[in-house]
Amino acid sequence: TVDQPVDINRLVEDMVVLVERETAMAGVSLVRMYCAGIPQVITDGPSLRQVVLNLLSNAAQAVRDGGKIFVTTALREDHVLIEIRDTGAGIAPEHRDKLFSPFFTTKPAGQGTGLGLSISLRIMNELGGAISVSSEPGLGAAFTIHLPLERVQI
Ligand code: ADP
Ligand code: MG
Repeated sequence: TVDQPVDINRLVEDMVVLVERETAMAGVSLVRMYCAGIPQVITDGPSLRQVVLNLLSNAAQAVRDGGKIFVTTALREDHVLIEIRDTGAGIAPEHRDKLFSPFFTTKPAGQGTGLGLSISLRIMNELGGAISVSSEPGLGAAFTIHLPLERVQI
């Protein structure tokens, strides 16, 4: 891969800026909650950018006018978290196990390929990390990227 030192807050902010014009026009506010003092992470930056952008795009499509998207970074003992939480409709329990399957989408034909989350899951596995979801139906959804600070050598 193309592992390089990555400033996580900067990478996340670069992707937030990409969706902010569109969300602002839709009356959706992006709330940044970046943790200070996250060390640089040696990882594949372009791949991680793609995952963050996928999650932001999904959140932007899930919220309505007046909704919010909270973008949080956090430092844990041995990993970094990036959480994208929205105030959309959330995830129906019966869809939960299918979200990460290729081509699973609940969007109208032509509006979703159903590939974003499956690609994101594959990338996070390749980066030695993980992706998790939690949702309160009716209140919103939260997707969390877990990125190890030390890559395990294979
Ligand atoms: P697509 O966005 O093309 O539908 P994804 O793989 O990105 O494909 O997402 C798959 C499905 O997961 C979506 O169609 C939607 O049902 C659900 N989903 C993803 N993100 C969210 C979210 N933030 N809120 C509610 N549902 C979501
Ligand atoms: Mg998507």
